[in-house]
Amino acid sequence: MAQKPRQCRAEVIAARALTRDVIEVDLRMVEPEALDFQAGQWVSVPFGPKNVRAYSVASSPTRRRVITLSVDVAPAGMGSEWVRSLKPGDPVQFKGPTGGFVFTRADPRRALFVAEEIGIVPIRSILSELYETGYGRPSGLIFWARDPSRLVYDAEFRSLARRFPSFSYFPAVREAEARWRGERGEAHEAVDRLVHSVDRLLVYVCGGEATIKQVREVLVRKGMDRKSVRWEKFW
Ligand SMILES: Cc1cc2nc3c(=O)[nH]c(=O)nc-3n(C[C@H](O)[C@H](O)[C@H](O)COP(=O)(O)OP(=O)(O)OC[C@H]3O[C@@H](n4cnc5c(N)ncnc54)[C@H](O)[C@@H]3O)c2cc1C
Repeated sequence: MAQKPRQCRAEVIAARALTRDVIEVDLRMVEPEALDFQAGQWVSVPFGPKNVRAYSVASSPTRRRVITLSVDVAPAGMGSEWVRSLKPGDPVQFKGPTGGFVFTRADPRRALFVAEEIGIVPIRSILSELYETGYGRPSGLIFWARDPSRLVYDAEFRSLARRFPSFSYFPAVREAEARWRGERGEAHEAVDRLVHSVDRLLVYVCGGEATIKQVREVLVRKGMDRKSVRWEKFW
C-alpha cells in the first residue's frame, strides 16, 4: 500500500562528501520514528511558502529509522546551500514520502536502469533493496557521468555485479583516461550500443530531461513502447 505523504521531523546524524560535489546526509527520523517509504520515492524540503526542493531517498527502505539523502550541490541554489550547511544535530523538516518511480517486483519483464549522474539516487535505493531481499532475475544498470569521478556509488555497483551474476553493471562516461575500461560517449549512445532487444524489457531512467528524452527515443527506435520507459526528471 502506498503511504500518504506527511509532515516529518528528523535530525542530521552525519554529513559527508562523496565527491567534490555530492554530499550524503544521514537523517535519524524523529516524527515518525520510522519512515514508511518505497524505494525510489522522494521527500520535499520547504524553503518558504512557495519553494520546495525534492530529494530522493538514497538508502534502502529496509532501513527506516535512519534515511540517507545524497545531493549534488553543484547547482548552488538554495537547496544546495542548505545541504552544504547541514551538520550533526541540526533539525530537518520535510514532507514525504511521495513519487511513483518505484519498482514493481511482480512485473515479469527484465529491468534496465539508466541513470545520469545524481539521477542514480532513487535507483541506488531500488537496487539496494532488491539485492538485500533476494532478487534473482536479470537486471542491468547503465550509469552515465561526465567523467569517472562523478560515478557516485560506483564501487558499490561493481561489488553488486561481482556478487550477483544476474546483475550487469555498465558505467559510461564522456571523458576518461586511456585506461578507462567502461563505455564512452553520451548516455543514450551507451543505451543504443548495449540494448540489443527491447522484448520484455522495462526501463527506468532518472536524470535531466534531455537525457531522458534521448534515451527514450533510442529505445522507441528499437521498437519499445513509450510506456515501458518509466522516468524521474530531476532537472
Ligand atoms: C522528484 C525529484 C527528486 C530529486 N532528487 C534529488 C536527489 O536525490 N539529489 C539531488 O541532488 N537532486 C535531486 N533533485 C533535484 C533537486 O530537487 C534540486 O532541483 C537540485 O538539487 C537543485 O536545487 P538548488 O536549489 O541547489 O538549485 P536551483 O536554483 O533550484 O537550480 C539551479 C538550476 O540547476 C538545474 N539543476 C538542478 N539539479 C541539477 C543537476 N544535478 N545537474 C545539472 N543541473 C541541475 C535546475 O534545473 C536549475 O535550472 C530531485 C528533483 C526532483 C524533481
